[in-house]
Amino acid sequence: MTAHAGSSGAGTPRAASIPITVRGVVKTYGNTTALDRVDLDVASGEFMTLLGPSGSGKTTLLMVLAGFIRPDDGSVRFGEREVVRLAPHKRDVGMVFQNYALFPHLDVAANIAYPLKLRRVPAAEAAQRVEAALDMVELGGMGKRRVHELSGGQRQRVALARAIVFEPRIVLMDEPLSALDKQLRDHMQIELRRLHDQLGMTTIYVTHDQREALTMSDRIAVIAGGRVQQVDTPRGLYERPANRFVAEFIGESALLAVDVRDGVCHCAGVPLAVDVWPAGGTPRHLLLRPERVYLAEAAAADGHNVLAARIVDVIYQGDSFLVQGTLADGTRISARGIATAAALARMPARGETAGFAFAARDAVLLADSAT
Ligand code: ADP
Repeated sequence: MTAHAGSSGAGTPRAASIPITVRGVVKTYGNTTALDRVDLDVASGEFMTLLGPSGSGKTTLLMVLAGFIRPDDGSVRFGEREVVRLAPHKRDVGMVFQNYALFPHLDVAANIAYPLKLRRVPAAEAAQRVEAALDMVELGGMGKRRVHELSGGQRQRVALARAIVFEPRIVLMDEPLSALDKQLRDHMQIELRRLHDQLGMTTIYVTHDQREALTMSDRIAVIAGGRVQQVDTPRGLYERPANRFVAEFIGESALLAVDVRDGVCHCAGVPLAVDVWPAGGTPRHLLLRPERVYLAEAAAADGHNVLAARIVDVIYQGDSFLVQGTLADGTRISARGIATAAALARMPARGETAGFAFAARDAVLLADSAT
């Protein structure tokens, strides 16, 4: 069921992964409700990301899964087993944090061997497993190095090796890449995903970075105010957000007011062609992604919509351009395009009126119940 599962050529996963089932989890701190009846289903071997703004409850949920926080109410199952009262070290989960949490006085190999020592794995076997884990994170031969001799990216690889060396069935990661610079972060996103595909463990990954979530995940749970807003594939979230929060949190968007007359949805007085009507509730907003909007002549092609707007800004951004306009009622609309020479030559000037066009399939309606 997962987009990437089994797609790697690295052979069969070593550890059997298991699903995670969260039901009705509540955690309050005084007057703050950090988690408000959270339900979540993570499939076996899935890469699930918890995405949300700061303070939305992501870390609290991850700590509930790890066993460091006991919720006020609710259930957490790993496979068939209820674990909500189980101590962290009995949960068989690997963890990676933002700040590595490595032991500075131990060398790389000893850091990675630590969870094996806790589990009383014989020394010879432990040494073999440490070597394999080092290879896995592409640090082969670096076992004798001291932690302070490593770069940030290398330290994070050591932390990762330590989290996977005992072959846990579940790996939890809390913003593991946020201390790295952008180039390394981009690289490590791909590496982490590759490692997940090789090992096949169920992975829960916390980030506030929507691009990171879109890049890495099988599915994303968007969290705000201690509640799961929507769980879907990256593409599902982007193209069919369930509510206004998700629409505005993920990707660039413009929200335009709509009203329904005689069963037809109108925006700025123009009847709209739309492919999908929102389930439940009356459409209130039209969500448009700038890259799905293009500049056009006034006449609409079949199945396309055109709204006339006055150009207020043309912004050149190197590979692309962004044209911003206002409809008659003052609402903003944007179109983004590839900055080809031909497109730039046709660019309207500020103050002119242009058609902002979009296909019926790209007209996403949000219902009142969802805002
Ligand atoms: P996120 O990881 O999404 O940034 P957190 O899970 O850390 O969010 O926090 C969720 C909410 O719970 C926030 O309002 C935060 O201030 C509050 N919170 C978290 N931990 C504590 C704590 N130990 N004591 C009091 N409030 C807390």
